[in-house]
Amino acid sequence: MASGCASTAVVTQVNPTRTASIETRFLASEPDPKFEKKLATAVARILYFSEKEGLGISDATTFVSKVFVYGTKAAFDKTLTSSPSWQAGISVPINYVGYGQSKQFHVLSFTAYQRIHPDASVDDYTKLLTHELAHLFHISFLQGQEDEMGPTWFFEGFACYVAGQYQTSVLPEGSRLTKIKSQTGRGSYEDYAAIFRYLTRRSSVRELLIEFRRKSNF
Ligand SMILES: [Zn+2]
Repeated sequence: MASGCASTAVVTQVNPTRTASIETRFLASEPDPKFEKKLATAVARILYFSEKEGLGISDATTFVSKVFVYGTKAAFDKTLTSSPSWQAGISVPINYVGYGQSKQFHVLSFTAYQRIHPDASVDDYTKLLTHELAHLFHISFLQGQEDEMGPTWFFEGFACYVAGQYQTSVLPEGSRLTKIKSQTGRGSYEDYAAIFRYLTRRSSVRELLIEFRRKSNF
């Protein structure tokens, strides 16, 4: 989400067969014929990244099988809070707009996303899709071992890196960096992106994913 990020080239050429086997369902929304293209672009970016970094995943169905697109934030929140992993009684923050689990990906429609972020472009939205799919890709790389994704700053930094988000964010230094790395809650994605990008100067992405799989999530 920079030296390393700059090489995360944006793939504009989309192979339609790459999403043909992914089932998309629209909930609380009219079907959006343009969604498929955005999804295909996000998938193409991830597969390009996988190939470039030698991560061994060349088929999107390895990490995503179904996509659910929500026309309203309320419908999205309802599904999320009904999921077994959601802590009862906790409301969904306004900035939660996508999540993935067991190869299923849930996300707001572009229109619903724009209601929260009126200035969001198609590219911003495509980066969001790429970011969320990058988490599913990461889990797939770990053979489904979600608890081996590493600390929050690490897996969120990775997803930002794959998606080309916050490519010019500034690396936190000194005590601020130490604090971010030991934080248990959610912090700034700009910081996470900068830290991950910094790590890619010394190690390949593949080495990092393997190194951090042994480091517990706090
Ligand atoms: Zn994320």
